[in-house]
Amino acid sequence: MKAIRVSAYGGPEVLKLEEIPTPQPGPNQVLVRNHAVGVNPVDTYLRSNTDNRGPKLPYTPGSDAAGVVEAVGSGVSAVKPGDRVYVGGTVSGAYAELSLCGEAQVHPLSPNVSFAQGAAVNVPYATAFHALFNRGHGTAGETVLVHGASGGVGIGAVQLARSRGMTVVGTAGTERGKRLVQEQGAHHVLDHSAPGYIDEILRLTDNRGVDVVLEMLANVNLQKDLGIIAMRGRIVVIGNRGTVEINARHAMNKDAAILGMALFHASPGQLAGIHAALVEGLANGTLRPIVGQELPIAQASRAHEAVMEPGHYGKIALIP
Ligand code: NAP
Repeated sequence: MKAIRVSAYGGPEVLKLEEIPTPQPGPNQVLVRNHAVGVNPVDTYLRSNTDNRGPKLPYTPGSDAAGVVEAVGSGVSAVKPGDRVYVGGTVSGAYAELSLCGEAQVHPLSPNVSFAQGAAVNVPYATAFHALFNRGHGTAGETVLVHGASGGVGIGAVQLARSRGMTVVGTAGTERGKRLVQEQGAHHVLDHSAPGYIDEILRLTDNRGVDVVLEMLANVNLQKDLGIIAMRGRIVVIGNRGTVEINARHAMNKDAAILGMALFHASPGQLAGIHAALVEGLANGTLRPIVGQELPIAQASRAHEAVMEPGHYGKIALIP
């Protein structure tokens, strides 16, 4: 099969399309023929070995895909060949024509959801769910600021929060991104590159502030978030690309919590709950992944450049 391989850490140019042996499913494993593959920022951090967290070389990148079950190993009962599925993590890597997965890593994909949309589910929506509900304890009637709502996680968070009965404030950095965030259900949309936008949040909440912040760029925004957090509010750090100076007195004054979160740390039980909710949300139409760009898998390096550029519009999918 064809797969993107990384043989040395580095820039996007280290992503090479190669021919490699097709994996075979062992006991409790599922082989999926990928029709679309999701590209996440974390794929670029691993490729460049940021924080020394790169996988053992050589490897096939990617954790997210959607396609059709090709074959199953012994003991698999949840899916059968021919089933449409989305993939949440793999054994062999997702940037490939086929992915080998553990049985718990494949989830049914409702017929109303395209493969490209299915490839946009795992990391973005699972992260949004875990941050919003398991870490941030967002509940109906509360207000959430999705600080960076135009990308993969942000769109998922807007839809999930809206479906739970929360008031949603979302931000984007372009007019196109703002329109998208509004279309996905945000009650208020602000431009995170516009001067004074943060004061607008206080105005929108009658100076009360927001109960939950889902933060996509904490190194830029954490101090601002502390200025608009409500009493007993929760700031969940999802994304961070540098250091930041904060005045912790603001957290003290509001009994506010700053919570780190990495999807990687979600327990198997939490992941099972998250995916049960996502499968249902996709089937009933409350969750509608947005794919802004589709590229042939041979252009994986272009996708890695694009996912780090400003002006996001949902997800980028690679097509094998
Ligand atoms: P993405 O699709 O690349 O989207 C990035 C988002 O950040 C866009 O909405 C972008 O808006 C926004 N952004 C840019 N500048 C901003 C600013 N100054 N303030 C607020 N937002 C800003 O990425 P993603 O998949 O949604 O992931 C978002 C971040 O979370 C990434 O850093 C990613 O690595 C991280 N992440 C962490 C976990 C975890 O487990 N902790 C899981 C998934 C993702 P515009 O382009 O419109 O400006």
